[in-house]
Amino acid sequence: MTKKFINIHYHPENNSEDIVGLRNIDFTKDLRIAKNCSIGLHPYDLKNRIKAEQDLIILKDLIIKNDLIAIGEIGLDRIKNKKNFDLQLEFFEKQLFFAHERNLIIIIHAVKSYADILNIFKRLKIPLEKVIFHGFNSSLNMAQDIASKGGYLSFGKVLLKSEKLQKVFKEISEKQIFLETDEEPLSQIYELYELASKIKGFNIKEIINNNYQRIIASVEQ
Ligand SMILES: [Zn+2]
Repeated sequence: MTKKFINIHYHPENNSEDIVGLRNIDFTKDLRIAKNCSIGLHPYDLKNRIKAEQDLIILKDLIIKNDLIAIGEIGLDRIKNKKNFDLQLEFFEKQLFFAHERNLIIIIHAVKSYADILNIFKRLKIPLEKVIFHGFNSSLNMAQDIASKGGYLSFGKVLLKSEKLQKVFKEISEKQIFLETDEEPLSQIYELYELASKIKGFNIKEIINNNYQRIIASVEQ
């Protein structure tokens, strides 16, 4: 059987039969929540504590009711919404506790905050085996640190343009990688697989399928 193209993190609706992955949905606007979705309180949206508390209750309820397997995007952003960084931190931790308790895949949004995020995981003693750093764009050292702890790095459109990131991609273990289109058109995934296979020097489709099966199995048992 031909393997599908795993697109680990995307936003638009997916009508394609050969692309599968975790669709990210804005649960405050879109209620078509299905099992293979991730929902979460995005760091951009954390501006008001009362609203955040209310949204967190709704979020937890939706995850439980729909038996979702993933939370995200959650994380920290030091560029956008940085004046609410304390609120971002507080609700990131609250969501992490819940994710850990429910055994969920965690989709991380990190902008200039990789070290902060790794420190939080360490302090809370939450392992990285179910954690995907989406839209990874940082150094090789950071990538190796995450991968050595069992975390996954997901590469998107920046990989197509940045030679620096292509070098990181080449060095990192293929067992810890995913590809994603995020908010771009879904068809970009074919271009990403082509380039990614070229950089690695072998076809990575089957390996990424295995990575997907492994992470899904870890939350479904
Ligand atoms: Zn996204």
